[in-house]
Amino acid sequence: MRRPLIAGNWKLHKTVAEALEMVTTLKKDLTDVKDRDMVVAPAFTALASVAEALAGSPLALAAQNCYPQASGAFTGEVSPALLRDVGCRYVIVGHSERRSLFSESDDFIRQKVKAVLDEGLLAIFCIGETLEERNENRTFEILEGQVDAGLKGIDKAAAEGLTIAYEPVWAIGTGQTASDDQAEEAHRFIRDLLARRYDQDLADRTRILYGGSVKPDNVDGLMAMPNIDGALVGGASLKAADFIRIVRFGKG
Ligand code: PEP
Repeated sequence: MRRPLIAGNWKLHKTVAEALEMVTTLKKDLTDVKDRDMVVAPAFTALASVAEALAGSPLALAAQNCYPQASGAFTGEVSPALLRDVGCRYVIVGHSERRSLFSESDDFIRQKVKAVLDEGLLAIFCIGETLEERNENRTFEILEGQVDAGLKGIDKAAAEGLTIAYEPVWAIGTGQTASDDQAEEAHRFIRDLLARRYDQDLADRTRILYGGSVKPDNVDGLMAMPNIDGALVGGASLKAADFIRIVRFGKG
């Protein structure tokens, strides 16, 4: 009932020329894919060119970040309105690198989630525990706290625009993927939490992506789990062949 979504987060990589080369390959090699959503998130500088290159293709465009104000004296920042204007459909919010390297608080992330949804864009809202928190058996407590703080004041109608990305911090960029069962357990917890905070219908329809060292050789196992609806892919999304194989999960 949930359409799978595979998103590539390119982080601080790829010039405009490199981004265009990548999407030219993706467009060509993924034309036959009709049963899943595909998203790429280039750096801000490549968004306009990539949007133009993707026009009419099944691949959608995401931004990696935003500022939660429409406009104003906020030097260096980019609003959801400007992202929509340039052709973005999704915005990644609350990535663990934003939380840890740029000290983004739960409340600031909540403002971003709201700003993205208010603009009519789709939010990919990232949550996840650190290794220390997992080892202290606090994973569920951390996930619940992040969901409650990030979605505070977001009503059910607005929450229709949400995708959650469960990204255990210890698995991001480390090559250490959560096992299929570890990921499934967290996803089931998040879905149950959405059912408690909203209702079962919304919980059943909300996509929950797994992120953290997803690669061609582990995507099939992860995607076979009932509550894993897609992947947010960092490192492996930078190489066309790897990303294409990940998009084609379950097809061998
Ligand atoms: C990410 O940055 O969202 C991510 C999951 O990175 P990687 O796939 O490289 O672990």
